[in-house]
Amino acid sequence: REIADISLKDIDQLANSSFPLCMRHLFNRLREDHHLKHGGRMQLGLFLKGVGLRLEDALAFWRAEFSQKVGSERFEKEYAYTVRHNYGKEGKRTDYTPYSCQKIISFTPSVGDHHGCPYRHFSEDNLRAALSTMGIGGRAMDDVMDKVRNHHYQLACTLTFEAIHSSSCDTGINHPNQYFSQSRKLLSP
Ligand code: SF4
Repeated sequence: REIADISLKDIDQLANSSFPLCMRHLFNRLREDHHLKHGGRMQLGLFLKGVGLRLEDALAFWRAEFSQKVGSERFEKEYAYTVRHNYGKEGKRTDYTPYSCQKIISFTPSVGDHHGCPYRHFSEDNLRAALSTMGIGGRAMDDVMDKVRNHHYQLACTLTFEAIHSSSCDTGINHPNQYFSQSRKLLSP
């Protein structure tokens, strides 16, 4: 699959317009806390690789945040390896694949973790608040929450996508990177 590279300077705007809720949440936590635990680093890091962020830009992105929290020396020592590792540049040089919805929904995040699927792992109040910031309200909010109550998390995400983009998504959402590329197709024809 061909992926257009994305540039670091566009990443905040892209996060706001085209990241699914699971990745928006990780992205916002990272920007605010300058830190993410391992599960979050993996989930967001592999997603960003999938959307076409090059290794050098990925390193710059994680370094800019983490060095505010742990210092740049510790970033290079403890965290840069994982970023390179995700791109298959360290260890067994496996080219790690971004996680699917099914995998993300199956996680069991602990307190302080931000990975996982918000439709599955957030409290109802937190989910409603997060959806509001994406511009979901009224009837669309009711429909999304209805799917969540019936444990149809990917359908809830699909309805969110449709409400935000004012466009139907017949295939349904099954992968965060699919959410992203379908969003880009609609928003940058
Ligand atoms: Fe992310 Fe998939 Fe959950 Fe949507 S359904 S928030 S893309 S894990």
